Amino acid sequence: MNSHFRLTYNRTLISTEYAELREKLHAPIRNAANVVIHQTITELFLETFRAQVDLNRPYTLPSGQEVEPCIGCMQAPAGTKLLRLCHAEGADTESECQQCFCRPMWCLSCLGRWFASRQDQQRPETWLSSRVPCPTCRAKFCILDICVVN
Ligand SMILES: [Zn+2]
Ligand SMILES: [Zn+2]
Ligand SMILES: [Zn+2]
Repeated sequence: MNSHFRLTYNRTLISTEYAELREKLHAPIRNAANVVIHQTITELFLETFRAQVDLNRPYTLPSGQEVEPCIGCMQAPAGTKLLRLCHAEGADTESECQQCFCRPMWCLSCLGRWFASRQDQQRPETWLSSRVPCPTCRAKFCILDICVVN
């Protein structure tokens, strides 16, 4: 997991660090061929988003249910499911997250872009810790609630 967005959480608090991201944004990234690649902040965020979601519990589809194509890009499989897991994670009884009852409809990239797009673009340090509405039913979720469908 890269260090530009960092998520740590204890019983009630999720916090992020942002200092290194700033540095990276000012220092263009070079690949092996020494070609400068400018990653957008959303792309940077997506790397961290994926790594974080990988740490969450996977979701197993009920038997008989098939993975559908993502309704965002119509290409990747809809490999994510929102479950209100942050609630169970610790003693955070005040969690504002809500249970989403949608079937898996989005791939992780589309969900990550949605997640980023709903944030305060001036304050990326808050992104990982924020809640956003489910793109389909509007139930609020956080990054701890995103499960990869296996
Ligand atoms: Zn998609
Ligand atoms: Zn939903
Ligand atoms: Zn949550």
